[in-house]
Amino acid sequence: MQFKDVIGQAKLKEKLIYGVRKKKISHAQLFLGDPGYGSLGLAMAFAQFILCENKTAEDSCGQCPSCRKINELQHPDLHFSFPTVQSVSKTSKPFYEDWRGQIKDSSYFSLFDWIKKIDSKERKPIISVDESYDIHRKLKLKSYEGGYKIMIIWMAEEMNTQCANKILKILEEPPNKTMFILLSKEEGKLLDTIISRCQILRVNRISEPDLKIHIEKDFQLNTEEADSIASYSEGNIIKAKEILNLDENDYSLKDHFIELMRSSYKKNVIDMMNWADQMAQTGKERQKIFLLYTSHMLRQCIIKNYAGNQNIKVSEDEFNFLDKFSPFINGKNIRDFMKSIDEAYYQLERNANAKILFTLLCFQSMRMLHKA
Ligand SMILES: [Zn+2]
Repeated sequence: MQFKDVIGQAKLKEKLIYGVRKKKISHAQLFLGDPGYGSLGLAMAFAQFILCENKTAEDSCGQCPSCRKINELQHPDLHFSFPTVQSVSKTSKPFYEDWRGQIKDSSYFSLFDWIKKIDSKERKPIISVDESYDIHRKLKLKSYEGGYKIMIIWMAEEMNTQCANKILKILEEPPNKTMFILLSKEEGKLLDTIISRCQILRVNRISEPDLKIHIEKDFQLNTEEADSIASYSEGNIIKAKEILNLDENDYSLKDHFIELMRSSYKKNVIDMMNWADQMAQTGKERQKIFLLYTSHMLRQCIIKNYAGNQNIKVSEDEFNFLDKFSPFINGKNIRDFMKSIDEAYYQLERNANAKILFTLLCFQSMRMLHKA
C-alpha cells in the first residue's frame, strides 16, 4: 500500500515522510483513531515507505521487490498481529490468509467486520499472551533484508493484560532495528505505561471534501448524493460504506426520517408507536446511522432557512421533503432537537432498550415540532 492509496490525511502523510527523511523514527509508535479514518492503511504505507528500495520524496515506488512483497503481504520483515478467536487459535498464524484476503479487499474495516469474517459464531476476539511470545520470537530473528523489522499490531486495545505486559517489556528493551506500530481506537483501554513508551500519531476524521471525492468515484454517486453522505458519515469511510449498503438493501433512511417527522407532527400516536417498533427491530448499527442521518437532516433545515438552498447537502428527493419541512425547524427548537438525538445516540451505545428510546424520541419530536 502506498500513501497515495490512503484517502486524504495529507498532513499525517507529510509528517510520517518527514520523520523518515530526517531519520527521526521512534521504535514504538501508536496510531490513535477509528479504523474508518485510515490508521491501518497509513501504517502499511509508512512501513512500505521505510522498506522501499527506491522511494521518491513523497511515496514508496510500488515497483521494487520490497514494495511488491508488501503488496502481496509476504514481506519477511513486515509482521502483523491482530485479535483472534481464542477457541480456534491462541495466535494469529492460522488466520493469516483471512487477514491477507481482508486487506486485499480493503484496509478500511472494523473489528466487527473482522469478527464476521473469521468466526460464524461472531465471538469476541482478543490478542493473548501466546501471541506476544510469537511477536517476540519474530522480532528476535535477524531481518531478512538487513533493514528494519516492522510489527503492526491492529486493535492493540484488544490485548489482554498478560499480553500487554509482555509487549511492554519488549518495548522497554526492543531488539535491534525493530519498529512497533500499535493501532488503537480507544487509548483509554491501553496501559498508561505502553502509551508513555510510544510516539503518538492522532489519526483524525477524513476531511469532508476528501471523503466526498472518494465516495463519488468509488461508488459512482452523483455530486449531491456524495455530498450528503460525506456530510453525515463523520469522516469515517466505514460508516459511509455502511450507509451505502443500507440503501442497497432498501432500507431508506429518508423514509424513516419522514415517517418520524410526519407522525410526530400529526400527533398520531399509533403511527408513532409503529414507527418506534420498526426502528427497534433494525440492528444497532442501523439505528446509530439513522440518528446521524436525522441530525444531518435537521442541520440542513437550519442551513436552508438561514443560508439558502445553495448551501445544503442533500439529494433531490431529500430536497423535495425539506422544502416543505424546513420551516418547522428553527432557533426555537433546533438546540433541544439536537440534544435529544445526541442523548439517544449515547444511550444506544450503552445498550439502552431501543424500543423505549425510539418511543421517547417520537414524543420529544412531537413536542419540539409544535414549539416552532
Ligand atoms: Zn519500492
